[in-house]
Amino acid sequence: MAEKRLLVVGAHSADFVWRTAGVIAKFVAQGGEAQVVALSYGERGESGVLWEEPGQTEEKVKQIRHREAEAAAAHLGANLTAFDLGDYPLRVTEEATDKLAELMRDFAPTVVLTHPDTDPFNPDHPEAFRMTQRARLMTSGAGVESGFRTAPPSEFLVFEPHQPELCGFVPSVFVDITSVFAQKQAAMAEMKAQQYLQSYYAERAGHRGNHARKVTGAKDIREAEAFMRIVPNVAESL
Ligand SMILES: [Zn+2]
Repeated sequence: MAEKRLLVVGAHSADFVWRTAGVIAKFVAQGGEAQVVALSYGERGESGVLWEEPGQTEEKVKQIRHREAEAAAAHLGANLTAFDLGDYPLRVTEEATDKLAELMRDFAPTVVLTHPDTDPFNPDHPEAFRMTQRARLMTSGAGVESGFRTAPPSEFLVFEPHQPELCGFVPSVFVDITSVFAQKQAAMAEMKAQQYLQSYYAERAGHRGNHARKVTGAKDIREAEAFMRIVPNVAESL
């Protein structure tokens, strides 16, 4: 097992690609292990183009979206697990939350990423946050010995939503993804049902790269991804 382990939980099967493909690729390039959980395929609400096909069915859309997500994860070096809970609405059951907690106990992530807790445009993203937070707490307990199987507490951050200001998202971490940006573009290109988002998220990475340059003065940062910490990080010193 790699020393550093990243778990990304997305409500829909393409969410990890737009928001955090760069961080995943970089994490793996640096010797870490990355696991992506897609709670649904976004088959109803985030597969618009596929529904233009005459005679399209939900089952076929799910199969296409599964292949696309697997291909995207492969570009980044991540494993993909699909929960297939359905979307719009995402139906989070106790059983599914237990399954996610069990995955966390086995994988013991050092970092967990998911959606912010608010999204006025999407019913599923906040559900994914609540489920992930609950599973993480059922995994890590209260930081003391517990009466259930635990894994060490992980860092916990949320990735950037589509409209950050309206989701209460204030970035506290920028990650330089310049060296792996080609991999992010390759992963985004696999998401053929949402091609319109490719240029949007390439531009976003450029804007965040500009912000990261400003913060650090590092002129070689071209692209970056933004995150918001949910729990503080603990450092030896400043
Ligand atoms: Zn989504």
